[in-house]
Amino acid sequence: MVYSKREDGRKFDELRKISAKVGIIKRADGSARFQIGDTIAIAAVYGPRELHPKFLQDPEKAVLRCNYDMASFSVTERKKPGPSRRSTEISLVTEKALASVVELDLFPNTAIDVFIQIIQANAGTRCAGICAAAMALAHAGIPMKDMVAAISVGKVGDKIVIDLDKEEEDFEEGATDIPVALTARNKEVTLLQLDGEVSKDELMQAIKLARKGCEEIHNVQIEALKEIYKEDKNGQ
Ligand code: UDP
Repeated sequence: MVYSKREDGRKFDELRKISAKVGIIKRADGSARFQIGDTIAIAAVYGPRELHPKFLQDPEKAVLRCNYDMASFSVTERKKPGPSRRSTEISLVTEKALASVVELDLFPNTAIDVFIQIIQANAGTRCAGICAAAMALAHAGIPMKDMVAAISVGKVGDKIVIDLDKEEEDFEEGATDIPVALTARNKEVTLLQLDGEVSKDELMQAIKLARKGCEEIHNVQIEALKEIYKEDKNGQ
């Protein structure tokens, strides 16, 4: 099936508009909002704090706990509030996408809790959640070896595209969706999922696009983090 033109006029390798802000939840240790197109994720970080009950503690490192949730009002169709198999899976892959960059071994017996809430969804929510969470962790002052950015790439019809929106995800029989998370400096893949079918060459092409997209996102994340220090200096 030929996919000749994106509905919103973007090029096949063009991201939706991105914006980010750090420090949006004053009582959290760290927080951030990340928006890409109509998808908005907010993240709040608490910790490191002593983990209770004690038998869950790890004497060698902190336990990173991520909780992803999609608000009932974030989508146009009816969505039951509360956890689901989908949110449990996304919480788990988010944890894996972030754990390798956080210096967990500095904080034995503690928990670092990351809450991600999707307040508006138009595809790519797990990636937006990871972007927001990485910024919130940095804002909380938790030592990190690297930053993490994430973007969804995939195949719509016959084209490899970046940052699919919901219409593209639902194109014809459904697109191939490939969420990718990458560390900024070392370009290590911390998340790679694939829902659909692609050839090896197409997958490599998609990952190349994801690298470019993550670099762009990373710049936005860094700018948002710098912004908070400018505000602090100005006494805000
Ligand atoms: N979606 C929805 N209701 C749900 C779950 C998902 O409308 O209960 C939509 C939403 O726009 C989401 C998209 O489907 O972004 C794709 O969901 P998927 O599970 O592929 O994860 P995502 O692409 O958001 O990471």
